Amino acid sequence: MSKNHLKLIKAGEYIFQEGEHGSCAFLIEKGRVETQVISQGTTTPINILGPGDIFGEMAIIDSSNRTASVIALEDCELLVVSKDHLNERIEDADPVVRFLISILMNKIKGTFTVDPVEAKKNPDATSTVINISEIKENQQVLEKLKMEQNLRDALDDNEYRVHYQPILDFNTGEVAGFEALMRWDSPERGMVRPDIFMGIAEETSLIIPLGHWLIKRVLRDFARLKMKLKKSGKNTDLFMSINIAAKQFNDPTLFKVLNQALKINGVKPQEIKLEITERVLLGGNFVYDWIRRARKLGYSVALDDFGTGYSSLSYLANLEVNNLKVDKSFVEKIHSDEKTRHIVTSIVNLSKSLNLTVIAEGVETQQEWDTLKSMGCDFMQGYLYSKPLPLNDVAALLTAPAKIKKAA
Ligand code: C2E
Ligand code: CA
Ligand code: CA
Repeated sequence: MSKNHLKLIKAGEYIFQEGEHGSCAFLIEKGRVETQVISQGTTTPINILGPGDIFGEMAIIDSSNRTASVIALEDCELLVVSKDHLNERIEDADPVVRFLISILMNKIKGTFTVDPVEAKKNPDATSTVINISEIKENQQVLEKLKMEQNLRDALDDNEYRVHYQPILDFNTGEVAGFEALMRWDSPERGMVRPDIFMGIAEETSLIIPLGHWLIKRVLRDFARLKMKLKKSGKNTDLFMSINIAAKQFNDPTLFKVLNQALKINGVKPQEIKLEITERVLLGGNFVYDWIRRARKLGYSVALDDFGTGYSSLSYLANLEVNNLKVDKSFVEKIHSDEKTRHIVTSIVNLSKSLNLTVIAEGVETQQEWDTLKSMGCDFMQGYLYSKPLPLNDVAALLTAPAKIKKAA
């Protein structure tokens, strides 16, 4: 904080006086002040404030003139909180917090600043002015709050579903594993895509119980699927990928829940890939420890959406991930953009030299398959073979002949 934000006041000096225009509030760092009102020539003390107290905040809420005077009883050190400073923080705040602040501010304004005589004479001037964009924004926030509540209820009402997208081995052309992808089957909204609701679940603590539910469901499904495949004489040497959201890194029970679900369903940690995005790497050193712990417990860890975020190739060497997923935004441009093709070639080469397995995401055409295979990618996932499917459909697909031939 720069020195401009600190104000030194000598004992006996007024910080501001009643009726003056105010544009900042003060936080007392040192010393004591007295608030006073002057009525008919008599000064009446209202309150004595000390370190940690804030005063003059009404002026930054509604830009009104000061309604009291404040005098320093001792030498004081005050931190100046300007209106801009506060507004900037409010602007940056979560929309829900912003909305609640605006309601509170309007309430405070109504309580403290509306002169009943003025209000009668000119009701428009004193009522809160709300413009159209504010109404729209508030509606969006209310919609978000409603969605948060619906998402919580959806867990109790058993409305979440998991779809499984097959991941193919480029060399064999066979299914090698799956990615578990969450869906919300909402009676009101229909099948909701995860990029719409996972973000909200992540912003709230819902991601923790939702993450636990997912782990239990996925491992139960995985065991059932393997059983079906075994019965029909198919390969059961498969892996299952589970997405882990950034907030789940702070879940102290995550590995316990995972280990328990593995035990119950007779699945080995080596069969599970935990997908994390580059974004979580911003979380600091504990993320590196989390990955190390996951690897020690036997899980594979994949770096998801590689190349879309804050990727720095240098951190790859220090990360103990063993898989890398090339984002579909690269795959879809691999033929239309030469630079993208060079980038993907470099990513694959670098991954090989670091002993990382490369999974290409969003493969939709045979041409993309051919190119990615010739580059040396290990696995592919994409609509070319299959979209994410409910468990039963995935089982049916796997017991039927594969669409893509080994020779592709
Ligand atoms: P993601 O982890 O990158 O998952 C891959 C997404 O790409 C999936 O979208 C999948 O359906 C889609 N996709 C796969 N192949 C193709 C293709 O060939 N073409 C196109 N256009 N898309 C393809 P989905 O299922 O809608 O999931 C979106 C995102 O939501 C996921 O991206 C992931 O970030 C998040 N998500 C989904 N389920 C979970 C979950 O259980 N936990 C967490 N934390 N996030 C999840
Ligand atoms: Ca993923
Ligand atoms: Ca991805």
